[in-house]
Amino acid sequence: MRDTTVTVIGAGIAGLAAALALLRGGQGVRVFESARELGEVGAGLSITPNAGQALVALGLRAELDAMGSRPPLGVMRHYASGKVLVRLEQDQSVAQYGVPLYHVHRADLHRALADAVRTIDPAAIELNHELVAIEQDSRAVQAQFHNGRSISSDWLLGADGIRSVARRALFGPDEPTFTGYVAFRGLVDATELPAEYLDPPLAMTIGPGRLLMRYPLRRGQLLNIVAIARRAAWTEEGWSVATPVSELAAEFADFDPQSRAILSRIPADGCFKWGLFDRDPMPTWTCGRATLAGDAAHAMPPFTGQGAVMALEDGVVLGRAASAAQDIADCLRRYEQARHARTVRALEMSRARAHLYFDDDPGEQVRALGAGMRELRSLYDYDAGRVPV
Ligand SMILES: Cc1cc2nc3c(=O)[nH]c(=O)nc-3n(C[C@H](O)[C@H](O)[C@H](O)COP(=O)(O)OP(=O)(O)OC[C@H]3O[C@@H](n4cnc5c(N)ncnc54)[C@H](O)[C@@H]3O)c2cc1C
Repeated sequence: MRDTTVTVIGAGIAGLAAALALLRGGQGVRVFESARELGEVGAGLSITPNAGQALVALGLRAELDAMGSRPPLGVMRHYASGKVLVRLEQDQSVAQYGVPLYHVHRADLHRALADAVRTIDPAAIELNHELVAIEQDSRAVQAQFHNGRSISSDWLLGADGIRSVARRALFGPDEPTFTGYVAFRGLVDATELPAEYLDPPLAMTIGPGRLLMRYPLRRGQLLNIVAIARRAAWTEEGWSVATPVSELAAEFADFDPQSRAILSRIPADGCFKWGLFDRDPMPTWTCGRATLAGDAAHAMPPFTGQGAVMALEDGVVLGRAASAAQDIADCLRRYEQARHARTVRALEMSRARAHLYFDDDPGEQVRALGAGMRELRSLYDYDAGRVPV
């Protein structure tokens, strides 16, 4: 395996994590990304201890500690009264798993991964390369790009996200399913908020069929907002669209004054609406000399906050499979065997929780969220750098 070359499609979280793990293992890696630049996109992500362990395995512990915010004590609040329903205990992850639970800005995580890849190989990431087709035979796999280039390599990883072209090219068309929920996302300048709005900064406000989450990022400079509501259908062009703050305000108009005041601080050009989609598990991710990772392989709704986490774990395990394997087929088999069942479990957990979390009775929502958080912890005890591969 050491002398093989691999083409990675997509410089997102999965693609960069895999590229870094494969480069560290001595593989020849080229990552092709459709975007013209790697910009400041996204908002907050939860880096649960299992994601922390994946970043440790990638050699990024110091970067994680520098970019991560540790959730302080949190609360669940009632949507109408703003009353505290439950106090969330301080995260015990360091004692239990050796790594804290962190919140990070997706852009910071993305930059850390890209910098680490470029430190090993400054030319590893090529931008402005949109995959359009894949062909393969017994000797090689060819990736064809919108700009006319065609790249041949020994094997290929499709890590091009939920609307994956690689997946379609390898397995045929298969549209993601709308989950019935949309998420509004935005960032608020926390330094301008009254102190009582941040006491504590981690809060989930629970209302009939809706959840409004807020937590600090970048050492408390920013407050990350995720507001989830039901929708019968997703009719917008694209799956993440800029949306007026007034639409979010109208959706949460019956929430308490503090929640509404925080939502009103989201900048006019900084409010985004995401249709939440997922896919049924695939029987296999591997087709000949190619496989999939991240959302391309196993897109899941964000109710357990494990999408980017699973993408990081995939990357680490794929790197270890490449180092352990005799040949490409052996590598892809080891990778999929180590990862498939776990990602199906995370997907099923997320799907099963969705409807319970969005009950019309806040009391039921609190019970469901408490049970969901306990179940989610069963995923934390996983070290991608050590699991059998
Ligand atoms: C509201 C919301 C909240 C979330 N919260 C969390 C959370 O708290 N924790 C968590 O772990 N996850 C969370 N997620 C999920 C997380 O954002 C994704 O699951 C994760 O980023 C998946 O990584 P990926 O690399 O597979 O895909 P992406 O990060 O989407 O990367 C795919 C890359 O491929 C590129 N690309 C696409 N098409 C092509 C092409 N044809 N050719 C070349 N390149 C291409 C894209 O430009 C992109 O750079 C959340 C999602 C939502 C919607």
